[in-house]
Amino acid sequence: MGHPKTYHIAWLPGDGIGREVTIEALRVMTRVAVPYGFEVSYQEHKAGGTAIDHFDTPLPDQTLKACLSADAVLLGALGGPRWDHCEGEKRPEAGLLRLRKEMGVFANLRPVSVPESLAGASPLRREIVAGTDLMIVRELTGGIYFGEPKGRISTEEGSEAFNTMRYSEFEIERIARVAFDWARRRRGKVTSVDKANVLDVSRLWREVVTRLHADEFSDLHLEHLYVDNAAMQLVRRPSDFDVVVTGNLFGDILSDLAATLPGSLGMLPSASLGGRVGLFEPVHGSAPDIAGEGKANPIAAILSGAMLLEHLGEARAAAAIRQAVDAALDEGFRTPDTWQAGLRKTTTDEMGLRIAELAERQTAVLI
Ligand code: NAD
Repeated sequence: MGHPKTYHIAWLPGDGIGREVTIEALRVMTRVAVPYGFEVSYQEHKAGGTAIDHFDTPLPDQTLKACLSADAVLLGALGGPRWDHCEGEKRPEAGLLRLRKEMGVFANLRPVSVPESLAGASPLRREIVAGTDLMIVRELTGGIYFGEPKGRISTEEGSEAFNTMRYSEFEIERIARVAFDWARRRRGKVTSVDKANVLDVSRLWREVVTRLHADEFSDLHLEHLYVDNAAMQLVRRPSDFDVVVTGNLFGDILSDLAATLPGSLGMLPSASLGGRVGLFEPVHGSAPDIAGEGKANPIAAILSGAMLLEHLGEARAAAAIRQAVDAALDEGFRTPDTWQAGLRKTTTDEMGLRIAELAERQTAVLI
């Protein structure tokens, strides 16, 4: 027998609950790897506030270098009140933006599903959220967050500030292709979100998405929604959506809206892709209010681990992890954020341990 394939993961636990939750993700990944004949090795690197404390920068060169040469990056969360006084390039978020840019990850994927067992924890009525299983594909490195010109000027009437929403055909086609590829693997439907009734940039967006659909993906269903309508429909009929593709600003807002559907930020994973190496992180932040108390929900990080393995080609191991998460929830395991009377309140590591056990057992069934 040859040596098992080993995936090298750059592990950036970051700040607050980042470490607690990603430790559980690593635990689950390393345990599910064995029966599938691969290994997961990981090395820790500093980023965010802890890196500022040690190296006076949120993204030390050695961390960036390690990320660019790894097979994948698993990140916890960066930032917290201790570093709120930091300015400019020294802010923890500046480290995250730079990491994404250097890694060339232009596509941010956020799957949002509401397992039957969690439908009661949603702020929406059970019958509305039941069956929700959608994926938001957000363009991450362009649009109004990066467009030039931007700035602030003084005028005779006082200050004026401006940003520019800008997309090239190349950028639009690149992100739309990611969305269509995902839809083909899912339920075959793409909703493209824009503001084409008002914005020129959205008219180009719509034109390019429509053309790509006709040329290469006409077997899939494509619909266009204005962003204001999309926000309303995501709340009214979330289970009708499959893949939603949109620009940086609209995606930022809609993905947070969709994030409320399962009832806790602690359930939502993400992947940022497009470069040679993918970046995988829970959607939530460092949650300083509960850090170190064993209250954090590790499922967002664990599901990010499943996305990581899927991206590396280990789709069956990823499926085993997802099924184990559902099974643990079905058994009534709940961290405090999703706990309801009658269910079993668990700590972060109890939840991670249970999911790891179930993932191994799941594997045995699948093989
Ligand atoms: P947050 O996501 O950290 O927390 C929002 C609320 O959700 C808090 O009440 C928190 O306790 C709860 N929560 C979050 N994750 C949870 C989990 N896994 N389990 C249970 N409850 C959870 O957002 P915030 O409070 O606005 O930000 C805190 C810090 O995190 C800030 O410094 C912010 O800049 C940073 N942040 C970082 C990232 C990132 O690294 N990608 C993302 C968002 C916020």
